[in-house]
Amino acid sequence: MKEIFGRNGLLARRHPEYEFRKGQFAMAEAVARALEDRRHLLVEAGTGTGKTLAYLIPAIATGRRIVVSTGTKNLQEQLYYKDIPFLQKVLPKSFRATYLKGRSNYVCLKRLELAEDSPLLEGLEDIDHFEEINRWASVTETGDRAELTDLPTNLPFWRHLDARSESCIGSKCEKFENCFITRARQRALESEIIIVNHHLFFADLALRGREWGQVLPDYDAVIFDEAHQIEDVAMQYFGASVSTWQIADLVGDLNRLSLADRESATEILRAGTRVMGLADQFWLNFQGGAGQTGDSKMVLRRSMFFRGRPGESTDVTPAGERYLALRKALDRLIAALKMVGDPPAELEALQRRTDQIKFDLDFIMHLEAADDTFVRWSERRGRGITLQAVPIDASAILSDRLFRETETVVLTSATLTTNGTFDFIRTRLGIEGAVEMVAESNYDYQNQVLLYLPPRMPEPRESGFTAAAATEIISILKASQGRAFVLCTSNAQMTSLRKLVEPEIDFPVFMQGDGSNAGILARFRSTPHAVLFATAGFWQGVDVRGEALSCVIIDKLPFAVPSDPVVAARQNFIDQQGRSSFGEYSVPAAVINLKQGVGRLIRSASDRGVLSILDPRLVTKSYGQQFISSLPACRVTRDIEDVHKFFASH
Ligand code: SF4
Repeated sequence: MKEIFGRNGLLARRHPEYEFRKGQFAMAEAVARALEDRRHLLVEAGTGTGKTLAYLIPAIATGRRIVVSTGTKNLQEQLYYKDIPFLQKVLPKSFRATYLKGRSNYVCLKRLELAEDSPLLEGLEDIDHFEEINRWASVTETGDRAELTDLPTNLPFWRHLDARSESCIGSKCEKFENCFITRARQRALESEIIIVNHHLFFADLALRGREWGQVLPDYDAVIFDEAHQIEDVAMQYFGASVSTWQIADLVGDLNRLSLADRESATEILRAGTRVMGLADQFWLNFQGGAGQTGDSKMVLRRSMFFRGRPGESTDVTPAGERYLALRKALDRLIAALKMVGDPPAELEALQRRTDQIKFDLDFIMHLEAADDTFVRWSERRGRGITLQAVPIDASAILSDRLFRETETVVLTSATLTTNGTFDFIRTRLGIEGAVEMVAESNYDYQNQVLLYLPPRMPEPRESGFTAAAATEIISILKASQGRAFVLCTSNAQMTSLRKLVEPEIDFPVFMQGDGSNAGILARFRSTPHAVLFATAGFWQGVDVRGEALSCVIIDKLPFAVPSDPVVAARQNFIDQQGRSSFGEYSVPAAVINLKQGVGRLIRSASDRGVLSILDPRLVTKSYGQQFISSLPACRVTRDIEDVHKFFASH
């Protein structure tokens, strides 16, 4: 590693902007050691450490097949289009790398062919888009829809054409050889480095050992960048879910099935129509039923649905009756599908989908028998409803399926420690025996950052908080001349603060939701003295270098919303064991969020800026110290004059 990362090493000679960074070198050595000793490693590496090269180079040096999983598309693209080509040019060892996306990004040749004769399309525009996809599918090398830059992101019929695993018939498909998933898998098999995102990684992990759906070939090690996100992603793939779309798509696909056996075809159509009708009744149990609009979440409670085992008729609520009726209709459909003589291969996928819907429905609805390790809720998004059950604590699953099965797992992120330890992430993920290190930052936070904690702020619960916060924001923005993110913990707070602040300042104001996040960010970057009001989407993964972002103002400590079913279930789970969910979960999770928000401010060694946290609990509550000690060591002031001086001096 010294020959590469050293002061006169390979990178110093070949990289135009390379500077020796102690933290980067130490991290590269730690990653190399973990890979060699076949151990797990946790590395916190703040912005500016140069962590991507610090894990890529040791990974490449092993010559083994290693998966690199990231949380954001930006980072994946940086790795694949920037770091990897650079390393392929300068490293003496040649290696191959590939970039895999989730299956739904690729077109399925089989479904595309079936769609040609079926009534999927609704208007002239759809026909144009379909023809464009058809033409492109015959020439593209990758089948990745990102190549079609003019295609609308939310093209309604794409979900009938994509290569999702539940519709795939694998090697029984006559398109298997040319299939883009087969080709992607082949490329991955021939590569030493495979770049994926966390969703693809865990979707694949959940399917390992099954005969279908898997995309990743076997690998020797996994490196997770942005590893603080993996708990939330992983749990989604180790639970169950059923949605209005899933059932409607299944019935739609059944209707499009062409069968030589007329009798079976009629029976399947009849059974499908019945499923659809009873599903509509069933969805009435949840927030007004299917087809209404709006976004909301509701935890499913035992008393609402069903007591007893499926098939028993005791003690069934009206809502439970609807579930039993739908279940019966699904059974009838499964029986009809099994009756088909000489079934085509695609029938197999439809059978599997129907079985899966019934299995997931039972798992979610059979609340009485359910153990307390899953949280179940219904969620309305737009016109659709999803029922979901996810494990409350993913640590045992991750320990079994990931950490015991893979020799080396490296977890890195700018935010893994809280209050100076890895205890939180270690417990949440169930990782044991890992080596731990914090890579030293290359930034001079003492000189680059001023932390301003306004005096005399009311507690966030008090009625005067928003008005006092707005007054503070106005004075800070006047000192910073705009150039700021105001990061809020709720949409309501973001809107109220903007309303109060905008008329009092002379700087251009943007707000999350006024357009796509990428579009707003581009406008923020190109508009001098801009101010952006934002919530969750801008706390992580956003990179604005230089003067355009000189100030980050945070309204409240970012505690997770207790009304979120997953958060509430995690808290209960810990409390029921006689432990303190506030100390063990709420505070450390909020510390990680706060560190992410703070990380937006300093993105290079020459960036400077003011960070202001308006929440007085940072100083009035005993846990406030945990937040302060988790932030980079910088100058702290309670005097707005210092903020003026800070900006005036540069
Ligand atoms: S193998 Fe699966 S994904 Fe590929 S074309 Fe066939 S059905 Fe589609």
